[in-house]
Amino acid sequence: MTLKTPTRIVLASNNPGKLREIDQLLAGAGMQCEPLRRFDIGEIEETGLSFVENAILKARHAAAASQLPAIADDSGIEVDALDGAPGIYSARYAGPDADDAANNAKLLAELQDLPEAERTARYRCVMVYMRHSHDPTPLICFGTWEGRILGEPRGSNGFGYDPLFFVSGLDRSAAELDPHTKNALSHRGQALRALVDRLTGRRDRPRGAPA
Ligand code: IMP
Repeated sequence: MTLKTPTRIVLASNNPGKLREIDQLLAGAGMQCEPLRRFDIGEIEETGLSFVENAILKARHAAAASQLPAIADDSGIEVDALDGAPGIYSARYAGPDADDAANNAKLLAELQDLPEAERTARYRCVMVYMRHSHDPTPLICFGTWEGRILGEPRGSNGFGYDPLFFVSGLDRSAAELDPHTKNALSHRGQALRALVDRLTGRRDRPRGAPA
């Protein structure tokens, strides 16, 4: 089955950091994205217990409000020494109205004095596409980006936990990467490219199958 490539899609987020990254990738695939705020509706409460549930809640809400197909992502950082926390609660780790600085300060405090080898972590992203708000078969794609948590912030690009996320193999924090490099490597970039491939039919056939 080949899905028709949509022209206008609502992006179920008002997070400027995410919007920048997602818009950049979708524009390259010829898709016109409308941020949620253009429809004069707020974000929905993330009451799910998994990235998948939260991404579907957000996409359904945006599709219902805009009457457009919707893309939503839910993402977060999992720290092994904290048994996977903050995970789905990454945006509100330091409290319901926490900003990036407060979340990063809390993470640093929790990991104080922990040796480098035990500071392993990963970003996760689930990206969902719904053709309409009652779509019973949403497209769901995943991305994972491995790294570790630094002892102090480095760099000023990106958003969220990027100044603390040391990218294995690059000797840089995610906040020291230019946007193009971050998109090429990141959990969000991986999940979105997989989604775009599905939407444009590029992965409808198993690899190696005759055209
Ligand atoms: P969401 O809007 O519920 O998906 O919140 C995701 C949260 O996870 C963000 O607010 C950040 O705190 C964190 N996060 C997810 N992806 C990234 C990233 O690429 N860089 C930095 N922080 C991220």
